[in-house]
Amino acid sequence: MADLQSIVDGIYSDLTPRLGEGKVADYIPELAKVDPKQFGMAIATVDGQLFTVGDAATPFSIQSISKVFMLTLALGKVGEAVWNRVGREPSGSAFNSIVQLEHEHGIPRNPFINAGAIAVTDIVLAGYQPKEAIGEYLRFMRMLADDDAITIDGKVARSENETGYRNFALANFMRGFGNLHHPAEHVLGVYFHQCALSITCTQLARAGLFLAAEGKNPLTGHSVVSAKRARRINALMLTCGHYDGSGDFAFRVGLPGKSGVGGGILAVAPGKASIAVWSPGLNKVGNSLLGSVALEMLAARTGWSVFAGHGSESRA
Ligand code: GLN
Repeated sequence: MADLQSIVDGIYSDLTPRLGEGKVADYIPELAKVDPKQFGMAIATVDGQLFTVGDAATPFSIQSISKVFMLTLALGKVGEAVWNRVGREPSGSAFNSIVQLEHEHGIPRNPFINAGAIAVTDIVLAGYQPKEAIGEYLRFMRMLADDDAITIDGKVARSENETGYRNFALANFMRGFGNLHHPAEHVLGVYFHQCALSITCTQLARAGLFLAAEGKNPLTGHSVVSAKRARRINALMLTCGHYDGSGDFAFRVGLPGKSGVGGGILAVAPGKASIAVWSPGLNKVGNSLLGSVALEMLAARTGWSVFAGHGSESRA
């Protein structure tokens, strides 16, 4: 394996002239305040090494990357019954789209578009008060990242609660179809807080490591999910993790990945590493512009694409 530190250093210096490209999410007022000229990357390998560059220690808003972790919690709680409430197909539409929901009787296409994630949050909320569900999620994230300093940014959560008209529409629409069991305000109270988690690239790379290691924390041996479940979550990330940009991300990068409008992306190289990248400027479909380019460079320079042959070091 080529020296990963020199690979991430090379990516950072190649991208430095482009810092600030893309458009910061401004439909959530708190996110519009973030300096777009930031870039960080962290790679946590299954053998316990960590490689970082740039603003890898600066916290950012996890946003939709939280959907991976909430799906993991929901699967742990009700198992395969999750799939009675949400599908497993790419949507081919925007993350906050409502168009398919009516045709498909309130069953969202997949757990990573907003409607699907809201249904997943409804599952996690069952039997809890909203505060308890938020607490369970926060504890889970701290456990996975092995870092109790992780917190939720109340300002970001409030900002979304005040302006999340589309999410309220999606939630109420699903409730009308019987696919939301709690009041929309309660479910979205949890959803906005899960999205408002502040996390650094280093913490996120560590939190995602179980997905690269057959469901286990490779450092402690602690099992988070079964190997089969980890494979399936990765499959969903590959096919649905970037909304209407999922096909292009698979084509260019070839790794399971999940983006968020805070500018973060979590990518998984199964058997090798978990990678977190963050740069706030987004492309047209709401995925980090430079983050996607960085992952494309990383996949080309390491040969980590899941479509490469075993042991292949095919580069570029
Ligand atoms: N909290 C954001 C929203 O619901 C998450 C969207 C995203 O990151 N793509 O709009």
